[in-house]
Amino acid sequence: MTQTAETPAIAALERYEAVIGLEVHAQLLTVSKMFCGCSAAYTDAAPNDNTCPVCLGLPGVLPVINRQAIEYTVRTALALECEIPEFTKFDRKNYFYPDLPKGYQISQYDTPLSRNGRIEFPVGGETVRCGITRVHLEEDTGTMHHAGDVLQSATQSFVDFNRSGVPLMEIVGEPDLRTAEHAREYLVRLRQLLMYIGVNDGNLEKGSFRCDANISLRSREAAELGTKVEVKNMNSFRAVHRALESEIERQAAVLDSGAVIQQETRGWVETRGRTVSQRSKEYAHDYRYFPEPDLPPLRLDSAFVERVRASLPELPPARARRFVDQYGLNAYDASVLTSTREDADTYEELVRLGVAAKLAANWLMGDVAALANEHRLGLRDSGLGIAGLSRLLGLLDSARINGPTAKELLTELYVRGGDPEAIVLERGLGQVSDETELEALVDAAIAANPVAATDFRGGKQQALGQLMRHVKEATGGRADMPLVNRLLRERLSR
Ligand SMILES: [Zn+2]
Repeated sequence: MTQTAETPAIAALERYEAVIGLEVHAQLLTVSKMFCGCSAAYTDAAPNDNTCPVCLGLPGVLPVINRQAIEYTVRTALALECEIPEFTKFDRKNYFYPDLPKGYQISQYDTPLSRNGRIEFPVGGETVRCGITRVHLEEDTGTMHHAGDVLQSATQSFVDFNRSGVPLMEIVGEPDLRTAEHAREYLVRLRQLLMYIGVNDGNLEKGSFRCDANISLRSREAAELGTKVEVKNMNSFRAVHRALESEIERQAAVLDSGAVIQQETRGWVETRGRTVSQRSKEYAHDYRYFPEPDLPPLRLDSAFVERVRASLPELPPARARRFVDQYGLNAYDASVLTSTREDADTYEELVRLGVAAKLAANWLMGDVAALANEHRLGLRDSGLGIAGLSRLLGLLDSARINGPTAKELLTELYVRGGDPEAIVLERGLGQVSDETELEALVDAAIAANPVAATDFRGGKQQALGQLMRHVKEATGGRADMPLVNRLLRERLSR
């Protein structure tokens, strides 16, 4: 009997090694599109509103390179420790699809904006290192919408070009990942990084951050790679994990039966929990790439690259390490508190306002996180705000209110706001921590609960709870409970 639940994919990985490489497409947060002046904010626009002759692909128009998109791509490449070649150019990738009116996509083929980067992240105690082959820049396509009338068995298709020409960065990872868990964590970290440096909004559902996976299996003894399959249509981290596990299982079964893996593209079907074959895989030569004749090649001088490098913020792994060193947090807390740039900024602002480092960490990760989730409202935008929370925690830290009162006030003020100090004065919520006053209440509690007192003296620890509650209620919940606990124990041990 084994104690760990073993999935078929994990069992397959005892016989075969999975080789996984991910390609991520991330839309850049530029104001305008890649080669024209149309707005890149396409999701809320009416269909085909954000279009012009350039992004509609009309004949005779000339594209112009978006400087901000180049800068964001360089920014990403540097954050991923890539080399930035001095020379780069755009190429035409030729294929036909109704959402691509030009009949070609402007992309980059043999001279990408960057190469040879890396990303490192922890998975279950080990550090996974994954190479980044390249980060290049291209344009997004339009979108298709299909409307079917079942009775008339006629299907209408609509095309919306609002997304056509939105700057799209492609981040190609080396096939250095070995499990579905590696792949999911790679995506989590990459998305976090892109959001930290402000180039992408990380929305998998809306498709502004999307991922394809290449996966092959080889026997544990083999040196050469197996035939790879490309998996598409995964729009959540969970889908990526499930799709890869299912694909490992499928490929292992094919290989076990003595058959061969077909090189093909497969789509993940969430409802069926498996991948299905879509088409045989294209090769680069199918696209007839050639240099884009309407755009000049680019030379990125080192001054420009160094200026972009200098503008990079402190990145999540470095910031988490600093939180451990500077604030004495453990690695887990530091990683949670740096998971978004806003969270990390909020934490540091609280500490700057005088809240003790550990206290700030506990409250942000506990009650504040729960309220933020419940109200779909971050602390920064809440009624209480960062300054309000620092005042509330100041009252707690100076023992003017107790923990339960602080929690109640946090819940009450989180959305509507208010001055915690004024409310404490107005309602008389101040903590009762006067020893003489509490000693009298402790004596009264013992007198009123003789059975509990005897039980505690007889060694029944939980009998103390009843006595604690008595004192708590007598003070309207305002007693300094750790002090009450100590006083009760002292009295009862005499
Ligand atoms: Zn346009």
